[in-house]
Amino acid sequence: MKIIDCHVHLNHYDGTPFKPLDERVQDLVNAMHASAVDHAIVISSYVVNEDRPSVAQLLEATKNYDNIGIVAGYSLDNHTHDDLKFYKECLKDGRIRGIKLYCGYEHYYPYDKRYQKVYDLCAEYGVPAMFHTGDTFSARGKLRYSHPLNIDEVAVDNPELKIVMCHLGNPWILDCQEVIYKNKNVYADISGFVIGGFTHYYEEFMADKIVELLNYAGEPRYLLYGTDWPISNMESYLKFVASLDLSEYARELLMYRNSERLFKL
Ligand SMILES: [Zn+2]
Repeated sequence: MKIIDCHVHLNHYDGTPFKPLDERVQDLVNAMHASAVDHAIVISSYVVNEDRPSVAQLLEATKNYDNIGIVAGYSLDNHTHDDLKFYKECLKDGRIRGIKLYCGYEHYYPYDKRYQKVYDLCAEYGVPAMFHTGDTFSARGKLRYSHPLNIDEVAVDNPELKIVMCHLGNPWILDCQEVIYKNKNVYADISGFVIGGFTHYYEEFMADKIVELLNYAGEPRYLLYGTDWPISNMESYLKFVASLDLSEYARELLMYRNSERLFKL
């Protein structure tokens, strides 16, 4: 079955050896190859530095791979008007597939009026706005800004906007599933549940939560496969989704159909 991983990064993270960007790209290509992943979407960070490449750097580094797409990270604190202008040009010619906000990492609610320009841009070009939701990888994050219930505000006020809640709002998956169920313009990815690989116990624990979500929210036209690689391990993630009791059609929706449609791949 075709596999689209809609959530990977080419950042360098603390505790791992530093590699230049082109080597990180090669690592991604190798990991995709090893797990038979057909397509990946790289999401840029809320900040640009030596560890975290800009959208322009990502576009350059991945230009030879037509199965690697880019979603642009945007933050109020670290990005400028010119950055957003550049994103608009990229949306116009299809070089980026969406824009991601990092609420929690930056201390603003997703319904902050200053983000509206991003939502308008995404709606205009028919691409999703992605949001970090749930636990933050950094202890400096503030959880009230990343709580999934905040996304309801944006979804209701922007019915034309397609939204992706990253990480299912973990651990607030119940709140996430209600926002998904109620708002037909909201999707969610299952990325970032684990650092490294799943243990057997944790795999079962998270699988139960996904079953509960599916029972509540129904046929998964809203659910997207993503890993958060290199934070989470691709192989372990595939084993995790293989353990889910899904119909063939539901599995297709999760693994590639929803992403294909949403990101226009
Ligand atoms: Zn991520």
